[in-house]
Amino acid sequence: MGDSSQLIQKDVSLQSYNTFGLDVRSAHFMAFQDVEQLKFGLKWADEKQLDTLVLGGGSNVLLTQDVEGLVLKNDLTGISVVEESDEFVSLKVAGGEVWHDLVLYTIDQGWGGVENMSLIPGSVGAAPMQNIGAYGVEIKDVFESLEALNVETFEVEAFDNEACQFGYRESVFKRELKGKYIITSVTIKLSKAPEINVSYGAIKDVLSEKGIAQPTIKDVSEAVIQIRQFKLPDPAEIGNSGSFFKNPVVHTQILARIQDNFDNVPHYVQSDSQVKVPAGWLIEQAGWKGKKRGVIGVHDKQALVLVNHGGGRGQDIKNLSEDIKASVMEKFNIQLETEVNIY
Ligand code: FAD
Ligand code: NAP
Repeated sequence: MGDSSQLIQKDVSLQSYNTFGLDVRSAHFMAFQDVEQLKFGLKWADEKQLDTLVLGGGSNVLLTQDVEGLVLKNDLTGISVVEESDEFVSLKVAGGEVWHDLVLYTIDQGWGGVENMSLIPGSVGAAPMQNIGAYGVEIKDVFESLEALNVETFEVEAFDNEACQFGYRESVFKRELKGKYIITSVTIKLSKAPEINVSYGAIKDVLSEKGIAQPTIKDVSEAVIQIRQFKLPDPAEIGNSGSFFKNPVVHTQILARIQDNFDNVPHYVQSDSQVKVPAGWLIEQAGWKGKKRGVIGVHDKQALVLVNHGGGRGQDIKNLSEDIKASVMEKFNIQLETEVNIY
């Protein structure tokens, strides 16, 4: 224990630990490289009655104030094959591994399933939290199970797909169990004879521009990377946390009402009565795309992304997001939901 207490640092800037680049401070900070260190940190905070906040890559958080308690940075590493057949391979991946590095590794091996989720920032441990997804694939599609430390009992528990209650950018860990478990590993099942998913038009367009008719998983990954690098701000250059809002899924009657006033409303059918309307389009129509408010604003290529050009404050970004919600509500009578985790 004597050694472990040296892991805890005091008064640490979190600027490099959140992709918005917000310069808030944490009263206490500890990076953990194994589960015993994590348990130590939790017990240390418990004894001092301090709250804890676990961070992976900090790419889905908005920090609006200094953290009074203990930030636990997930540095757990390791990837191992736990099961393999001629068709499939199951990989157990430690929660602190970088998601995109895992994707590149699987593509190198020729194992398919996660290539559409190339270049999503952040850690493997946070990926189930909001059931990360992109270009028609979500982690739930390849998910087998995860292990998570219960922060009250300090026991490691297993969750299967059903227990995670995955939904659209949702899981039980983002709702009822938020803050109650720390995901230490995720096991995914990948295919050795992958089916390619090019259901999103943008991927098809890039592949056809390149003259690729029979794409491999590497081709799909490269197309996704190319689109994302063009369209999304790189957090290393402009602070952001990706999509700030979820795409609303609304009743077809609401879509019909919007179509009375707007031509070519983009929408994607979810069921007989439900359609997804891109939040970026709603925000753009409400006049926010590319708008700046001092050093913060709305990205000029994708209105779903709020940005910090440098020196911004989390509270101002939160206020901006509320003003955007209010104007989308006024114009379309649709309530946008925040995707980013606000602290
Ligand atoms: P963090 O931001 O560190 O944490 C997010 C939340 O999860 C916090 O509440 C945190 O406390 C909690 N948490 C973190 N680690 C754990 C753990 N081990 N156990 C339990 N709780 C934990 N998301 C998508 O779904 N699809 C995209 O295409 C996508 N594109 C993005 C593009 C950009 C440029 C950016 C900046 C973000 C994008 N995101 C996207 C959002 C983000 O990358 C994902 O949500 C990612 O999974 C967050 O991982 P992280 O490690 O950075 O999480
Ligand atoms: P886009 O291609 O401009 O499309 C706008 C929205 O329409 C997307 O968000 C997507 O919803 C939906 N969409 C597009 N084609 C679709 C199809 N064939 N079927 C069903 N829905 C469709 O989107 P984008 O902003 O460039 O993002 C591309 C992908 O990366 C999306 O999947 C998006 O979710 C993901 N992404 C996520 C984040 C994040 O932080 N969460 C950030 C950047 C990109 P879905 O979002 O439901 O896919």
